[in-house]
Amino acid sequence: MHPHVKKLLALQQVDQEVTSLTKDIDSLPVEEAKRRRKLDELDRVATEARNKFLKSELDARALEKAIRGSDDEIKRLNDRLNLVRNNAEYQATLFQIESVRKDRDSMQEECLRLLDVVETQRTEAAATQATADEDRKVLAAFLEEAEKLRSSRAGAIAEVRNRRKALTDGIPDDLLREYDGLYKTRDQLGVCAVENGYCQGCYNKITVNDTARLLGHSSVVKCGSCQRILYMQK
Ligand SMILES: [Zn+2]
Repeated sequence: MHPHVKKLLALQQVDQEVTSLTKDIDSLPVEEAKRRRKLDELDRVATEARNKFLKSELDARALEKAIRGSDDEIKRLNDRLNLVRNNAEYQATLFQIESVRKDRDSMQEECLRLLDVVETQRTEAAATQATADEDRKVLAAFLEEAEKLRSSRAGAIAEVRNRRKALTDGIPDDLLREYDGLYKTRDQLGVCAVENGYCQGCYNKITVNDTARLLGHSSVVKCGSCQRILYMQK
């Protein structure tokens, strides 16, 4: 085997170790962002439900106040009935009382309807808040687990990365860059074997010329189909 290819093969074994140690950890930020987006949406829904409930409650309180105002007005008008001096004024006051009472009754009706709505909205607000709070707990537990996983792996990852650094010694920079690119784009297999004349990365046949070069061990040979760096399997 060409000495550079031999080194790359050892490097690839370490890279595969790094990949298996970091694969699930690398997916954590995406998962965290996804969960945060979901919680943000639940919070938004809960806030909206709460604001709706608070507004209805305020409207109901305002109506109750207006009703009490009408009651006072009716009382004041009734008192006046005792003081009027002629029939025309008496009739006018009666008419006024009737008008205020009519308004008061329709406000009362509206207020009762609104109080029903308030109750429904209060339940809805509490339910959406509970859902968001539950999700917040789930997210906190996930973050805690993620942190545990990260810290338990940190030592092993650092150890493998150190080993990797030592293995790159003596590999030309451009070959190393090429290998790194292949490792990423070719399913963590930048260097692969040739068996019975076939590349084990893409299963295409290797040319007679490339086979001869591989047997010569003096040049770095790449697969004509997948560009992976090749070595002869004994
Ligand atoms: Zn190939």
